Amino acid sequence: MAEAKHYRVVIIGSGPAGLTAAIYTARAELQPLVLEGNEPGGQLTITTEVENYPGFPNGVQGPQLMQDMREQAVKFGAETKFEMAQEVDFSKRPFTIKTDDNVYTADAVIIATGASARWLGLESEKRLQGKGVSACATCDGFFYKDKDVIVVGGGDSAMEEATFLTKFARKVTIVHRRDQFRASKIMVKKAEENPKIEFALNKVITEILGDEFVTGVRLKDTKTGEETEMPVDGVFMAIGHIPNTQPFKGQIETDEAGYIKTVPGTTRTNVEGVFACGDVQDSVYQQAVTAAGTGCMAALDAEKFLESQE
Ligand code: NAP
Repeated sequence: MAEAKHYRVVIIGSGPAGLTAAIYTARAELQPLVLEGNEPGGQLTITTEVENYPGFPNGVQGPQLMQDMREQAVKFGAETKFEMAQEVDFSKRPFTIKTDDNVYTADAVIIATGASARWLGLESEKRLQGKGVSACATCDGFFYKDKDVIVVGGGDSAMEEATFLTKFARKVTIVHRRDQFRASKIMVKKAEENPKIEFALNKVITEILGDEFVTGVRLKDTKTGEETEMPVDGVFMAIGHIPNTQPFKGQIETDEAGYIKTVPGTTRTNVEGVFACGDVQDSVYQQAVTAAGTGCMAALDAEKFLESQE
């Protein structure tokens, strides 16, 4: 492995949080390195139209927004690498970050690794992944032209994915374990008004059926315990996310759900010189604009920290 290359700031992650941190630290002439990870651009690259990012009255495509943020960061001097942080050592400074190919050291680290899709945890779900089971409607929706599909969940993602899938599918059934939605009223209303969307409430999937490909699901009513089978061609999970903190295990403080703990009102973690921003430290808001906001905070916090060390 090559000798470690040193940077003032290494930013781990390249969603709105990481790239905003990159724009700010680059403009502060800190020549940051951005490790883009295995999903460059983050979750917005697997979405379509973003209607709530300020400054775009006509909406903007998620991948385009991320491409523009990246270009902006590079323009100001950020270096980006398609590498994934595998392991870190935050026990001494400079901090060490290992990827598959390289070792880097940094005076300050900004963690912006986001969160990944949650799965139900069924054996049949795992077996049929990519064979009718998906966690990305935007990626796989196209394959379900005139088919019947299920979207699991009761949050904004479920409503958004269900609405999106009606572009292709014949019928979309939203399966939710309660009869109350976590999703915003406007998104529930949009789904309810869509003639292709049906709801199966107070239901959980106990098994996904099919040998080579999904043919249906077994549902259990959470109120009565009654079990039924529903024939479907595809099952899309939209049941939230798990923070991506694997490389930082044992190195940084997290809450019970695994989100990195930050000092309220700042992006400081329990390790001096390590900052966290975006979804990896935010289980509540998880919006592109809040991620970008905390990315800016992390850059300013890191800059101040580095100044204090001079
Ligand atoms: P979420 O709000 O956490 O909702 C997850 C849903 O999945 C909940 O309804 C939950 O049920 C259900 N669920 C969780 N674990 C489950 C399990 N094991 N089995 C069955 N159901 C399960 O997640 P999200 O929808 O991905 O949204 C995350 C954040 O992103 C939110 O802040 C949301 O507003 C935001 N978002 C915004 C937009 C937009 O504005 N365009 C689009 C997508 C997401 P319970 O309700 O019973 O807990």
